[in-house]
Amino acid sequence: MNHFSDKLIAWYELNKRDLPWRHTSNPYHIWVSEIMLQQTQAVTVVPYYNRFIATLKDIKALADTSEETLLKLWEGLGYYSRVRNMQQAAKVIINHHNGVFPNRYEDIIILKGIGEYTAGAILSIAFNQKISALDGNVSRVMSRFYAIEDDIALNKTKVKLNNLNQALVDKENPATYTQAIIELGATLCTKSKPDCENCPVNSGCMAFEKGLTNVIPFKSKLKAKKEKKFMTAIMINEDGNFLVSKVADNLLNGLYLLPQVEAESIQYAIESFESNGITVLTYDYLNPYKHIFTHLLWEMDVYVLKVKGIGIYQPVGDYQTIPIATAHKQIIIKEGYYGNI
Ligand code: SF4
Repeated sequence: MNHFSDKLIAWYELNKRDLPWRHTSNPYHIWVSEIMLQQTQAVTVVPYYNRFIATLKDIKALADTSEETLLKLWEGLGYYSRVRNMQQAAKVIINHHNGVFPNRYEDIIILKGIGEYTAGAILSIAFNQKISALDGNVSRVMSRFYAIEDDIALNKTKVKLNNLNQALVDKENPATYTQAIIELGATLCTKSKPDCENCPVNSGCMAFEKGLTNVIPFKSKLKAKKEKKFMTAIMINEDGNFLVSKVADNLLNGLYLLPQVEAESIQYAIESFESNGITVLTYDYLNPYKHIFTHLLWEMDVYVLKVKGIGIYQPVGDYQTIPIATAHKQIIIKEGYYGNI
């Protein structure tokens, strides 16, 4: 008898949030939800998930859809390589598994964008296999429950926590166990101020017993982010078109950006725009903006420019028709150049 999972599952059945991916064991749906949830909170993911599943109803639809559609469906979630990897993985499933999502760890772990956690989550939640799925939430619960003070950023600590979780996975109901422990970490055993009084497993929790919940999990400091300073332009030409550029780099590949130059002054940026075939007629300063990527910070001084010509840029009549990087979409929305979203 596994008291931990019994108490956890009983609590979950009474307290779980009603999320759309909890009404299905379709592995495609579970996969989509897990990839979206990697960097984003559940409540934010819900409309994206519903729209994605409604538009791309199965793995074949995902494999066949255009890049523009794919990026548009993902617009706002960020980390676009996730959805590109999903499409590549969908093509492998079509070509090597007859379009049926594989149910063996060794077949899933080699799909692009699927790591140990996601493989474990799909196998336990969609296929009800007794396998650990160790994400940040589960790491936190395990490290506190066993009062493990090792640095959770280290791989050897993850292996230890994964083994502890693996031993606790309910053998009759792995799918519910995995969802329940993730839910516990997301709602009660939170990073700051865990609600230990209402926790279903508090009677065996060593961090709670020893008063260590504010120091566990221990994580070494992240490296400082690299900073970049841009002059960023909402640029409108004489035809009333907005000018944008399509990106071809690892960070935002395939998305569109407002014209911008890495510079400390607008004069320098204007010279750069003009050397690329644009004539600047007027410019006005709007506001400063910031965007934080995982290891990078963009500081942007935003201007609105009236210009002649299009130079190296691409004209669009409406920002809503193209997938724009979130770093710039927030600017367009806040400055009132974007319609209803
Ligand atoms: S008792 Fe507190 S620290 Fe321990 S698992 Fe529950 S919420 Fe987390």
